[in-house]
Amino acid sequence: MKIEFIGGCNVVGGNSVLLSSKTTLMLDYGVRINPAPPVYPPLVKTDNMILSHAHLDHCGGLPRLYVSATPKCYMTSVSTDLVKLLLEDSMKIADKENYPVPFKQKHVRALYDNMYAEEYYNEFRLGEYKCILYDAGHIPGSAGILVNADKKKIFYTGDINNKPTHLVNSCHLPKDIDILIMESTYSKREHPLRLQEEKNLIALVEEVVNKNSTALLPVFAIGRSQEVLFILEKFTSKIAIDGMARKATEIIFEHSSSIKDHVRLRKILNRIFTIHDSKDREFALKNYPIIISTAGMLFGGPALYFLKKIRSDPESKVLFTGYLIDDSPGKELLDTGRFKGEQESYNVKCEVRRFDLSSHAGHSGLLEIIKKTNPQKVACIHGDDCEGFAKEIESSLGISAFAPKAGEKIKV
Ligand SMILES: [Zn+2]
Repeated sequence: MKIEFIGGCNVVGGNSVLLSSKTTLMLDYGVRINPAPPVYPPLVKTDNMILSHAHLDHCGGLPRLYVSATPKCYMTSVSTDLVKLLLEDSMKIADKENYPVPFKQKHVRALYDNMYAEEYYNEFRLGEYKCILYDAGHIPGSAGILVNADKKKIFYTGDINNKPTHLVNSCHLPKDIDILIMESTYSKREHPLRLQEEKNLIALVEEVVNKNSTALLPVFAIGRSQEVLFILEKFTSKIAIDGMARKATEIIFEHSSSIKDHVRLRKILNRIFTIHDSKDREFALKNYPIIISTAGMLFGGPALYFLKKIRSDPESKVLFTGYLIDDSPGKELLDTGRFKGEQESYNVKCEVRRFDLSSHAGHSGLLEIIKKTNPQKVACIHGDDCEGFAKEIESSLGISAFAPKAGEKIKV
């Protein structure tokens, strides 16, 4: 069998790996979203496809596979609906911004016609490959993918977290792997103590609620917005939710087994205010001191409407809870107090803070995952220092490791 590393090599984003023996099996087919415009993976033909989870850097290229073939595409049940939400939104943005898209609507429909839901820990066969999805603990429906073929075991982590969150359990792992294809997002960094981050966030939100001003939390739609709802549970009657954050939460709620505590989410959803239109938006600003809205890095979405409305109020706060890439409007705002968008820029008088509520394993968590899977060899991908991480794995764990270059093939 051969493994070809197509995307996500020495970079965060655009993950894609192709296995080939008698037939071909693709694992993820994502885009690199930032900086704009999105960069799609090269056109590749595959017999079958497995998706690790519904984030665009893993699934954003999927319709392109249907330009050259009609592979069957497997993923967890909640991912089938979340992928549709993400793709519809990314196509709307591409249309608005005039970004080139290397597929047509008919290819999107072909993808939807060929999507199949698979459960965790249920072995299924695709040609000569025996496959099992393991809970990756990253977002609802996220999966590490175990593939068994030609007497070799390959485990592809997707994005993975070995610490439980309010929303999902920590990852489950197979043992004694031949090749571990490992995400390396936080290979150089540890996360701060989670509980303390949550306490700090709650304290700032409490200040805002007491002063009856506004706490705007720009969030990523899938995973983070629901996690923030759990963390701010005691304020539920004071929360309004908007944009894709609302839609993603509704989908996740419909797939009750995709999260740890469905009853808890239902109780929260019964009390928060969901925003559907501009009238609701005005109403929320007057009556709800906590606003949770996409987009997480302020590239767009209703979060921009709220930011503009609260910008002159020094008692209001903008509280980021996700990763902010260097050239994002969110990072600029955090560093300089000035919002610089596509259309306009202005100073923001609110306090701006960022909290680390990451759903990726930190540095020591990644090493823990490697020890537990006990691989013969590790391929480090999806990170900004994959080579450094591979060297560290060799020196500290004594396990052979490498950082593949885009297009590199290995024989196993
Ligand atoms: Zn992810």
